[in-house]
Order: sequence, then C-alpha cells, then structure tokens
Amino acid sequence: MRAKEPAGRAEIARSCGLSVQAVSNITEVLENDGLLRVVGQKTGVRGKPATQYSINPEGAFAVGIELRPDALICAILNLKGECIYKARVALDNAAPDMAIPAIESAISLAITTSNRDRVQLLGVGIVMPGPFGVSSQGAHDDAILPEWDGVNIQQVFEDALKCAVIVENDATAAAIAERVTGVAASIDTFCFIYFGTGLGLGVITDGHAQRGAFGNFGEIGHIITQAGGTQCVCGNNGCLETYASRLSAKRSLEEHGINLPDGFAMETLLADENPVLLDWIETASTHLSQAISILENIFDPETIILGGAMPDTVIDAFIARLNLPVGSVANRENRTIARVIGGSSGRFTAAIGGAAMIIHNTTTPSLALYN
Ligand SMILES: [Zn+2]
Repeated sequence: MRAKEPAGRAEIARSCGLSVQAVSNITEVLENDGLLRVVGQKTGVRGKPATQYSINPEGAFAVGIELRPDALICAILNLKGECIYKARVALDNAAPDMAIPAIESAISLAITTSNRDRVQLLGVGIVMPGPFGVSSQGAHDDAILPEWDGVNIQQVFEDALKCAVIVENDATAAAIAERVTGVAASIDTFCFIYFGTGLGLGVITDGHAQRGAFGNFGEIGHIITQAGGTQCVCGNNGCLETYASRLSAKRSLEEHGINLPDGFAMETLLADENPVLLDWIETASTHLSQAISILENIFDPETIILGGAMPDTVIDAFIARLNLPVGSVANRENRTIARVIGGSSGRFTAAIGGAAMIIHNTTTPSLALYN
C-alpha cells in the first residue's frame, strides 16, 4: 500500500501475490482499525468501479527520541511518515536516572500537544550516539554517553515506556530519516555522514541499513586522516573527528577566545566570515575529502550526504570547499547526482529517523519496498 497507494484490492492482490479474497479480508481489518481509509472509486474500462484505499495518516503514529549528552530531541511521525511534532529539551545530565524520566515526560507532552491517543502509539525509536558497549573508548570520551555503557538500553526503555522500542545509533537513524522522509527517498545506496556531538556514518545499501555485528557500524569519526595528528579522546592520533565535528569547531574557536554555545552561533560567525571559523572549515573540508574518497571506493554509493546537527550554511561551506580526489570510482562522467549533497532534515534528523524506523518496521518487511 505504501508503494502503490491509492490502490484497489485487485491491484494490491496482483502486486503482492495474494488472492483478491485474502486482500479483501486484510483491507477490511485494516480499515476497521483505522489504518487504511477509502479515498474514492476508480472506474475501469469494464466491471464495477473499484474502491480505492490509502494509508490513513491519522491511524497511528511513532515517536523518535534522540538522546545527546546535553539535550533530548523528540519527534512524532504519523503513519504516512510525515513529521507532526518536534521539540528539543535541554538536559543537565544524560545519565539513565535523569534521562529516562525526562524522556517519559517529553513523550507524554508530545502526544498531548499533537492531539494523539496513546493507544495509537506504534512504538518509540531511541537514538543515541554510539559506540555501544565499548567501555575502553567510553570512559574518557565526552562525545558519547559513558553512563549508558553496560545498560541494556532496549530493555530499560521497554520497561519504562511500556511499548515497542528500537535502539539505533544516531548516524544510521539519520540515514533512515533521509531515506523515508528526506533527500534520499529515491536513492537506494548512499552514505550519510552525520554531524552529531561527534561524527558518525550511516550506510544504506539497496535500501537496507548496515548495522555491523554489534550495532556499531560506521564509527567514521575515528578513522585516521592525519598520521601523527591531533590527539583524540579514543587514544589515536589524527582521527577525522578531531578535525571535522562540532566539538572540534568549539575547541578551535575557544583557543581564540570565541565561545560557541550552539549551531546558531556558528551560523552567525559564518555569516560574519569569522576568520577562525573559516580556517576550521577549510581544514575540516580537507579531512572530509579524504574520508569521502575512502567511502566512495569502499561502498560505491550513488551519493554521499552530509547532515545532522550542523547548520545548513556550514554544510554548504564544507561542500563548496571539498577537494575530492580524481582517482575515485565515484568520479565518472554520467553522474545524475553530485558526489556529495546536503541532507534535508537538519538537527531533528536523528529523532525523525528513530520514529521512521518504527514506521518502517511496522509497515514493511524491507526498506527496498519504498521504491
Ligand atoms: Zn579517535
């Protein structure tokens, strides 16, 4: 239905290989549950007009929560994947005993504010920066959430929220958001470089998100782009994240006595052509260019998307300054889409991705069916 709507029963039966009778029974149940609705009649060449069905956007909804060290972001998507609510709540402390009650009340407020009934809640997608379960990295890394190390995150939230819960890292969730509601709706294979507190990577191949064995796929922040370079919190030297992340921008500016409280401040500095920020963007772009050519040669994506919690103007500034290697499988003449593009969903991307994962898991066996 997601791929074909509006559609009649015979049409659905043909496309999924079920009998018309089976499809009639299923559509009746879904219509009674308010998940499908009749949107009209279609008159064919012969026979009686066929009733046309469509997904009822009001029939159910999903909540996405992104937990960051200093804030939580909450988003609601309706059954059609449209964002109907988004909000940011500042957090003093993202440890479980503080964050869980804050998340519970943020969800209650979101449901009330958007006039939804809790019985229509399909589930909650919890999005957190990875890596998960790597305590040797977690102990000294201010880019992630060390208090959550060793916590069975899914179980804890299922118990607290009493609904279905999916847990995903922020970069993969953001990639799914771009796939379901953003610029990648018609792109089957792409990489998404996600600017969160640190730097992450989501990869969608043939419509499927890559997860890795431990849910830690795509820790791109800690690939080394400068041998013997800047000391990183992970213990390496010269990691990409030390050159091209919000934290690295904050550090570079602080070294010159400039405070960077949030993304808006960064936008203002860029608009004012602040030389320290422009220097940082130049350096970050050099390191991003290297990382991008690595991704191109490994994953052969249709494009690479830059997005997340970085102002659009800064993303555009990166893209304008990229110096992409000529020797890349992506450097071909018949491209229909640029090698690197900006994402669409902004700082709410990961939270929207959390909700999109729930909608996706509920309604389709495979992301590829969005084609
Ligand atoms: Zn590192």
